[in-house]
Amino acid sequence: MRRKLVVGNWKMHGSLAENAALLGALRPALADLGGAGSAVCVPFPYLAQVQQALSGSPVAWGAQTLSEYAKGAYTGEVSGAMLKDFGCTYVIVGHSERRSLFAESDAQVALKFEAAQKAGLIPILCVGESLAEREGGTTEHVVARQLDAVIQQVGIKAFAHAVVAYEPVWAIGTGKTATPAQAQAVHAFIRERVASLDEGVAESLIIQYGGSVKAANANELFAQPDIDGGLIGGASLVVEEFLRICEAAQG
Ligand code: PEP
Repeated sequence: MRRKLVVGNWKMHGSLAENAALLGALRPALADLGGAGSAVCVPFPYLAQVQQALSGSPVAWGAQTLSEYAKGAYTGEVSGAMLKDFGCTYVIVGHSERRSLFAESDAQVALKFEAAQKAGLIPILCVGESLAEREGGTTEHVVARQLDAVIQQVGIKAFAHAVVAYEPVWAIGTGKTATPAQAQAVHAFIRERVASLDEGVAESLIIQYGGSVKAANANELFAQPDIDGGLIGGASLVVEEFLRICEAAQG
């Protein structure tokens, strides 16, 4: 049985005061998730605050991107080792906002995935199609391309220490959620593709769904056989919503 994992992606939101309120409410409430895991991925400047607030709790934390480089003259960049210094467990790589707004290519995402693992972090690799791609019938092609770029770089065994998040771009922050059946179909496709290379890795791989997950739809989504929790944007900033989503992952 795979455990479920719910990760909040705060994106570029928060302040010291807002985060303190959020973390103060989450920490006691998420103390016992009955085997499911939870984490928050926060903006770089708040890593120290989150580390202090969540240390010793079962709630993990992480960042939303990292540099593909380990060290050097890369002004403004943050390395995997720096994230590790702040106790990060996870780092999101290849979020669709990074791919579309910051022109991250499949190859660059693959290098970031590799850099994360080299630093001892668990990458959460985001894959997903745009609305035009879905309507054009190329969802599987796009997801396979994004996945294969990483597999080519690091090999399939590396996925034993990674999480994949299927995030249809048309569902992120739009209020439009993929139906449980639509999401399950792509999750099964991802798992089969990984299984064609390594069945053991596929069986244990956590594949999260992301895209307008809310308390109201989490139960149905997480009940699908290949959906192992969620990557949550907007709803992770609302205590009651995030807690109820985490509860849904308990099964
Ligand atoms: C995300 O940030 O990855 C995301 C899925 O956002 P939202 O839940 O707001 O759609």
